[in-house]
Amino acid sequence: MRISRRHRYGCIPKEIHYPTRRLEGKVALITGGASGIGESTARLFLKHGAKVLIADIQDELGQSLCKELGTPDIISYIHCDVTCETDVQNAVDLAVSRYGKLDIMLNNAGIAGEDELRAIASEGDNFRKVLDVNVVGGFLGAKHAARVMVPAQKGCILFTASVASLLYVGVPHAYITSKHAVVGLAKSLSGELGEYGIRVNCISPHGIATPMLFKTLKTSDKRKVEEIILRNGVLKGTILEAEDIAQAALFLASDEAKYVSGVNLPVDGAYSINNQTWKKGLMEDCI
Ligand code: NAD
Repeated sequence: MRISRRHRYGCIPKEIHYPTRRLEGKVALITGGASGIGESTARLFLKHGAKVLIADIQDELGQSLCKELGTPDIISYIHCDVTCETDVQNAVDLAVSRYGKLDIMLNNAGIAGEDELRAIASEGDNFRKVLDVNVVGGFLGAKHAARVMVPAQKGCILFTASVASLLYVGVPHAYITSKHAVVGLAKSLSGELGEYGIRVNCISPHGIATPMLFKTLKTSDKRKVEEIILRNGVLKGTILEAEDIAQAALFLASDEAKYVSGVNLPVDGAYSINNQTWKKGLMEDCI
């Protein structure tokens, strides 16, 4: 007997309607949310109905951004150095006391560290500092988010990793090490926290013209930075922007990604799966 599609899969509606406000009713905490990728994500999350708490060390910038985006009942700022556990604890507690819960924790705060590429010339203190902000900071964010998400039996923890979590990209060892560690941490957390319905994922962007990269490349000329990124990228004709990472975070934070956990999502235009040294093509030398 032939089983019709209708019976096999239930009633299939002609059109699937996705909500236009994909984070309606959710509460998000974004570290490093005063600038760059964090700022773009705060804007997008807010647009999609989330209440957002920005946690950063750039107080003036964070406060003026919140003023621009809305009233404290939907968006607010807290000073939070992610390397300081009390600050992180306070940020999570404020999200819960002000907005009632915490659904999304985006561990995004990060630094590139000093620009020394040679291991023998690098300072141990710089190495420790980068790991402290990028890894320990992320761990503390996840720890305190889990503290309130476990009793709720749900939640979403995200990390902004980097294409530097996937391969050597000619940036300092400390940064590459820290981003690999973040991905390891996310995998480990996804194993433990899955039991409580908490999803844990990473996003790994290619280069984006943000203040972090301006500092690394020693220029604030956005166009110049974008040209460098474009030249180095695999995917041509388009420029990666902070908003694109916000869109990836929106998907991972939304219910549309309800079974996505333990993933490191590259937003790198295929950079990490291409071996740039073979660009000319293996066969070209022989033919
Ligand atoms: P950015 O400098 O614009 O933003 C980083 C934010 O983190 C800043 O607002 C800064 O004040 C904050 N921050 C730094 N140290 C902190 C601390 N101790 N406590 C709290 N906040 C702190 O740069 P961005 O590019 O938006 O960086 C965001 C994340 O994206 C970082 O984790 C970075 O490693 C990652 N990333 C950036 C790129 C890129 O090319 N821009 C690529 C891949 C990954």
